[in-house]
Amino acid sequence: MNLKDYIASIPDYPKEGVIFRDISPLMGDGAAYQEATRQIVAYAKERGAEMVVGPEARGFIIGCPVAYELGIGFAPARKKGKLPRETIEVDYGLEYGSATLTLHKDAIKPGQKVIICDDLLATGGTIAATIELVEQLGGEVVGCAFLVELNELNGREKIEGYDILTLMEF
Ligand code: 5GP
Repeated sequence: MNLKDYIASIPDYPKEGVIFRDISPLMGDGAAYQEATRQIVAYAKERGAEMVVGPEARGFIIGCPVAYELGIGFAPARKKGKLPRETIEVDYGLEYGSATLTLHKDAIKPGQKVIICDDLLATGGTIAATIELVEQLGGEVVGCAFLVELNELNGREKIEGYDILTLMEF
């Protein structure tokens, strides 16, 4: 099975000149979703992950089945104002303006080995902010897993030194 066959490429979305890589055909196909999950589960196991963190919102789609399969916990990193209890937060730059990502203060225990899952690595801003949140709580980021990596945007450079798995590159 070639997982790339399940990624739709949408030219000029959300704005002219950008090719959006849509993962919904992959999620919509049971065998493809299972295969992608299986590969990330194997990686998470190899890295000794004890907890999964996923940034809103597609990080939930990738991270939750991995946590379920391994029988470990999942913590959502959410936009400011969405988590009901005490949080920590990190501001990060977007192409236009900035955003704030938050994590519940008790989401990660000090020393816990964490894998971060998201659908796609672009500029690396989202993953860098998520790593910062986990580390603020004393967690150890043992790996970062993505379905898709956009090579042109050099997101890897922003998280140099961290272990990265990407299942597909464009
Ligand atoms: P970054 O912070 O690395 O620049 O962007 C990655 C984040 O933006 C991910 O959370 C991802 O969901 C979203 N994103 C950016 N571009 C795309 C895209 O082409 N396709 C999808 N599916 N998500 C994208």
